[in-house]
Formats: sequence, structure tokens, C-alpha cells
Amino acid sequence: MKDLLSPKDIVRSGLCIGCGSCVAQAASNGTAMDFDWYGQLKPKGPEEWYRSDSESFTRTCPFSPAAKNEDHLAAELYPTARQAHLATGRFETAYVGHVSEEDFRLQGSSGGMVTWVATELLRRGLIDGVAHVVASQNPQEEGRYFRYRISRTEAEVRQGAKSRYYPIELSEILQMIREVPGRYAVVGIPCFIKAVQLLRREDPIFRERIRFTLGLFCGHMKSARFVESFAWQMQVPAEQIEQVEYRHKDPNRPANWYNARLTLRDGQVVNRDWWHLADGDWGAGFYMNSACNFCDDVIAETADISFGDAWVEPYSSDGMGTNVVVVRSPLIQELVANAVNENRLMLEEVDAKFVEQTQAAGFRQRREGLAYRLTWSRTGVQPRKRVAPDSKSATRQRKLIYRIRYYISAGSHNVFKLARSIKKPQLYIRWARMAAAVYHGLAYHQGKLGEMLKRFAELRG
Ligand SMILES: Cc1cc2nc3c(=O)[nH]c(=O)nc-3n(C[C@H](O)[C@H](O)[C@H](O)COP(=O)(O)OP(=O)(O)OC[C@H]3O[C@@H](n4cnc5c(N)ncnc54)[C@H](O)[C@@H]3O)c2cc1C
Ligand code: SF4
Ligand code: SF4
Repeated sequence: MKDLLSPKDIVRSGLCIGCGSCVAQAASNGTAMDFDWYGQLKPKGPEEWYRSDSESFTRTCPFSPAAKNEDHLAAELYPTARQAHLATGRFETAYVGHVSEEDFRLQGSSGGMVTWVATELLRRGLIDGVAHVVASQNPQEEGRYFRYRISRTEAEVRQGAKSRYYPIELSEILQMIREVPGRYAVVGIPCFIKAVQLLRREDPIFRERIRFTLGLFCGHMKSARFVESFAWQMQVPAEQIEQVEYRHKDPNRPANWYNARLTLRDGQVVNRDWWHLADGDWGAGFYMNSACNFCDDVIAETADISFGDAWVEPYSSDGMGTNVVVVRSPLIQELVANAVNENRLMLEEVDAKFVEQTQAAGFRQRREGLAYRLTWSRTGVQPRKRVAPDSKSATRQRKLIYRIRYYISAGSHNVFKLARSIKKPQLYIRWARMAAAVYHGLAYHQGKLGEMLKRFAELRG
């Protein structure tokens, strides 16, 4: 393998998550992040930039095997952390609970903690802006439903609440942070936070200006085609979609019954439970970015504070939503502890084991599953992970599930592309139902054919 890498090497090896860090650093004109044929963001630019190997790229791309790993970064960032665990990395304190003041919880995807922490940092005068993901103003004109924005007021930060399982990228906001002096917080999924921390090590401007990092736990990233698939299955034209809500909150239903909602230009609203969508089982891996197959950070181990959903009972059944929170920065720890004392936050301390249990499926896929995938032969850049290759520990059943998930991810990108190009949505929908039914039978019913057929019939409606 080459010592120095280029963006092209990472993209060609299926390891580009589309963070935009390379584009933000590019000194060359004409570089940008753009959607590819599969609805995934990838770096584009003049060939001499795209193909050129460089030391700084090799050190800062989050999927470069030569970049410092999460353990190394966290040891530098949080040297005095009180606790450490293989699942969570270093941390001060972990909690389960939600925001109790105002309507943060109701407006948030789970307990509203991300928006609360971002708002509190602004209220306390500790930052001037928050880089996070908001809905595009004119999605059809802009060609994307969501994008990163720097919000500078409490109202703007609160507008951004809710999870977006949609490709977004950091290049524009990083350029803005470089151009406009100030103190910023960045909200991001684990690989994006890693990219930010790698950039902060490299560049004193980012080190000085990005004061806080807020990480989201992450299962995987979906492509933009997931939204088009919603439209196909809800039988509305994708080019009429004005707003996308991945998880509409209904306090009267369990939090893990996701309901997707599309608002059209004429005001019409359509919705469907993920359970009734052919590609709505998160575990089946539809539209997953291929880089996610080689990721070992589930809970943003290099962020000052990380947030997820408490996917264990009794919390999963509470439709209001409940966060798991892992705090690493002593300053944020103080903010959170004070707010708990003032009853503005309703949080209970938990241990790392509890946090791990809330993400059991994610850890299986990204520890045991990753170890297995690392034994498969592949061409191009070889990922270097904290997990060692291992094809022995997983049972046959688990290995089969990892294989099927891998093929469903790859298949969903390709079958959707074909169905879209020949304008035959049914081709994809039928394939997706079949794939989902097979996954369902294997993952939840020990491969029973009857259960697969039953699930297929259910999905056909
Ligand atoms: C792709 C993805 C996968 C996830 N996978 C898991 C998982 O497997 N397990 C789990 O427990 N939790 C997962 N989460 C996190 C979870 O969905 C919630 O975001 C988290 O629990 C925080 O909820 P909240 O109510 O505190 O946040 P809110 O108060 O609703 O605030 C959410 C904040 O995140 C920002 N945001 C939304 N989407 C993105 C994005 N794509 N990238 C960066 N910032 C964004 C918003 O702008 C807002 O500031 C995932 C999130 C994403 C985006
Ligand atoms: S992962 Fe990020 S830094 Fe690496 S090639 Fe892709 S966009 Fe560039
Ligand atoms: S699974 Fe890992 S690589 Fe994929 S989006 Fe999430 S943090 Fe990034």
C-alpha cells in the first residue's frame, strides 16, 4: 500500500464517507462536494488535486489508515478523563434522561439534549455559533434536503433540532469558520467529529476557533436515495417534496416506532411507519455508505459530549424520547451537572455497560461484524482499525447476517440506480421487499422460510 494517499484513493476504495474535510483544505479552485450517481456526497475537483497524494490529506482524512485513531485522539483531548471503557472510550460521566425545561424534548428526535447543550453554550456566552444540520430553504432548487449551517442565535439553533439520516458535509462551514473569527461548536456524527479533531491537530485556526464538539451516536449513514424511496412508496412525486421528517414524534407511540413524513409543495402531508416501508428496517443496512462497513466508533469517542437514543426498556417505549449522554469535557460536565441540580435536565448517572447495552446492535455490527469483514479480501486502501481481523469468533448465523447486510447495502444502491434510470420504481420496491424479508427471517427467526414469506406478504400490503 502507498504511504501517501489522495482523495481518489479513498473514494476508489469505498472508504469515503463524504465529510468534506479534504475539500475544505483544498487550495485549488473548482473543488466541491457533490452527489454521485448513488446519492452520496463525494469530493470533486481538478484531476491534479483529486489524484495528488499529500501528507496533510493522509493525516486528516478520517478513513486514512495513517490518520491518528480515536483512542489516540481521545487520549490527547481528554487526558484526565475519570473513566474509560472499550465501548465508550474515555469519559467523565454518562447519563440517561432528557431535557425538562421548555420544549426541547418535544422538538428533539430523542430527549432534546443536543439542542439544549448547543443552546446553553450560546446562552452562557461560550460560543458565537453552532455548526449543525438544518433543512434547506429551497430543497428542489438547492438539490438537497439538508445542509450544515452555522446558527448564531438560540432561535436558529432550535430550528435545527431532529436527526437527519441524509448525506451532509462540512466543507462550506469549515471554510466559513476559517474566514470568520469566532468561537464555534460543531455537531456531527462520529466520523465527522474525528475529521474535525484531525483538522484541529493540523491547523491552529481550527484548533482555536472550534471550541466544542457535540457528537451523535451513529448506526450508519444513508444515501439521499432513501428519501426518493419514501416518495416512491408513498406514491408522491419526489420533485414535489418540500420537507422531510425522518422521525415524526408522537408521544403516544413507542419512540422506536419511526414514522417518516413528507410535506409536498402544495401543503399535502404523507407519512408511513418505517416498519411498513420495504427498506425501513435499520438493521438491514439499506442505502448504507460503504465506508460505514469499516467504522469502529459507535458513540463519537472524540467528541466533548456524545448523545444517542436510550434503546432499552422502559425508555424505548416512551414516545417522548430519551437520550443517553456521554460527557468528556470537564467544562460541559459542569454545565450539565448544574442544570441537573436546577431541575432543568432530568438525568440519571449510568455506567459504560449501560451505554453499550443501549447500542447493542450497533456494537455487534461494528466490533464483531467489523472483525469479520476485515478478513474479507479487498482491493485498494486497506483500512486500519482498532478491531483485529477475526473470522472465528462470530457464529455461522451472525456471519450470515453480516454478509446479507453487506449485500443488501450494496444491492440497494445498485438496484435503485437501475430502477431510477429506467423509471421503474416497482423493480426496486419488489427487490427491496424480498431482501427485507430474507433479512427479517435470518435476523429474527433463525432463517425460517415461513417467516420470510409472511414478512414479504406484510410488506406487499
Ligand atoms: C446518521 C445518524 C445515525 C444515527 N444513529 C444512531 C444510532 O444508531 N443510535 C443512537 O442511539 N442514535 C443515533 N443517532 C443519533 C440520534 O438520532 C439523535 O440525533 C440523538 O439521540 C440526539 O437526539 P436529541 O433529541 O438530543 O437531538 P436534537 O435536539 O433533535 O438535535 C439534533 C441535532 O443534531 C443535528 N443533526 C441532525 N442530523 C445531523 C447529521 N446528519 N449530522 C450532523 N448533525 C446532525 C441537528 O442539526 C441538531 O442540532 C444517529 C444520528 C444520525 C444523524
Ligand atoms: S472521507 Fe472526507 S476527507 Fe476523506 S476523501 Fe472523503 S470527503 Fe475527503
Ligand atoms: S457508521 Fe461510522 S462511518 Fe458511517 S456515518 Fe456513522 S460514524 Fe460515519
